[in-house]
Amino acid sequence: MPWCGSCDRYHAPSALAADRTCPVCGGPVDDGGSGDGADEKIAKAPAHTRIPWHFWVLIVAISIYLGWRLIQGLIALAGLF
Ligand SMILES: [Zn+2]
Repeated sequence: MPWCGSCDRYHAPSALAADRTCPVCGGPVDDGGSGDGADEKIAKAPAHTRIPWHFWVLIVAISIYLGWRLIQGLIALAGLF
């Protein structure tokens, strides 16, 4: 979060002037090195992140379990009538 020392307040990164100075006093702001780093991390993140294999194992296990519970529920319902 960019910090302006002369205004004694934080500014949103999008609120900064185009030359990354304070929009209120025009002075330099202290990004603390995190502002640009965060932007770089977002830019470097791949657009499509690969889904881990154990996610699909979990999905298959949940599907089997819920399918079996559905069958049990239908059997129980059939027994009622
Ligand atoms: Zn300022």
